[in-house]
Amino acid sequence: MSTRKPEGYLEGRPLHPESLMMGYGYRPDLSQGAVKCPVFQTSTFVFASAEEGKAFFELAYGLRKQGPNEEMGLIYSRLNNPDLEILEDRLTIWDEADAAAVFASGMAAISTTMLTFLRPGDVVLHSEPVYGGTDYLLKQILPQFGVRALGFPAGASEEAISMIIRRSGAAEHLAMIFVETPANPTNALVDIAACARLARAHGGGRRVIVAVDNTFLGPLWQQPLKHGADLVLYSATKYIGGHSDVIAGVCLGSLDLILQVKGFRTILGTMSGPHTAFLLMRSLETLKLRMTCQMKNARYVADFLADHPKVARVHYLGHLTEDDPQHAIYHRQCSAPGAMISFEVVGGEAEAFRLLNALRLIKLAVSLGGTESLAEHPASMTHSDVDPEERMEMGITPAMVRVSVGVENPEDIIADLRQALEQI
Ligand SMILES: *Cc1c(COP(=O)(O)O)cnc(C)c1O
Repeated sequence: MSTRKPEGYLEGRPLHPESLMMGYGYRPDLSQGAVKCPVFQTSTFVFASAEEGKAFFELAYGLRKQGPNEEMGLIYSRLNNPDLEILEDRLTIWDEADAAAVFASGMAAISTTMLTFLRPGDVVLHSEPVYGGTDYLLKQILPQFGVRALGFPAGASEEAISMIIRRSGAAEHLAMIFVETPANPTNALVDIAACARLARAHGGGRRVIVAVDNTFLGPLWQQPLKHGADLVLYSATKYIGGHSDVIAGVCLGSLDLILQVKGFRTILGTMSGPHTAFLLMRSLETLKLRMTCQMKNARYVADFLADHPKVARVHYLGHLTEDDPQHAIYHRQCSAPGAMISFEVVGGEAEAFRLLNALRLIKLAVSLGGTESLAEHPASMTHSDVDPEERMEMGITPAMVRVSVGVENPEDIIADLRQALEQI
């Protein structure tokens, strides 16, 4: 489905994504030969003539169809900006998407996308657990607009999810299936292809959108569009940004869906600024290097934890065994286990806190995907506003610690965990 530009090919073959991250979509001749895309720190753009301004607005507001060789002109940075447009082109490469829209945050991407496709009376079916902000949007905000959220546990079979839809009596009103996989912080997987089949089977004849929050494994280790998803969402704050210094979000999919999302983004004003886009382009140059290093480090860390007497259980995708139904989903859907690990210490909150307070190299902070390793306590931090009973059902126990493995030397990460575990 990709609409790659000719520069994305060499000898008729598509270039690898990592080879295109240094310059794809950018033309130095339009910027004084600068090898890197400058920051177009400008709110508005000068029209060559009044007629040109009129023509640009006609296209921007959908008043007429785009001519065959007509390019959408630059108007105002809430509608479009060169840094955003080039970044968006570059982001489409990894997920092989037609189009992308960049946002001021992951939540801006998720909320704008939901407002684009959900209307009063609609039902959004979603996996559980989901990111805390998404959970609040689904359960506290969307109901105020007449949209009902219906949850299913990550790891549920296709039949079980189908049963949840039927029992709810909402099949006719289903408008979106929203999936977060692997689930945070348990690493439970949701079968994207099964959700795409369910979307096609429900909705009373209209198109049910399958949207996947791919923040944990994407875009390197999981590409939801290949498994039937319609839209891919990211908190680009995490692996895509990768340095814990920027907040941003992305939505990717077919051109017709992304144009609808961008229409809402223009009016809601949820786009990112040019400097954020510049930082993300810089981050993309090392995305594969960083994610590969983090993924390799995480395996050492997970193996160490699994063997430690003070660790009761490790939740890590690289440790799934063949008798586990999640194993088959993993092999269909993911190409590597990523770098997010949760584990339960022997004991409860007190023991988990003792470990967290003893860490020296690994920082005690929420967020993830950055170059530095971070650790946090899901039950009292990222997932503290989830109903305590539901939290336990989801497997988020007081003994659980979540680690985002960084690019440090894995021996040092392990040494830090070892000395901290000894203090329990
Ligand atoms: C962080 C995160 C979000 C929210 O992204 P922000 O950039 O903080 O708005 C959404 N989904 C997942 C899975 C996340 O980890």
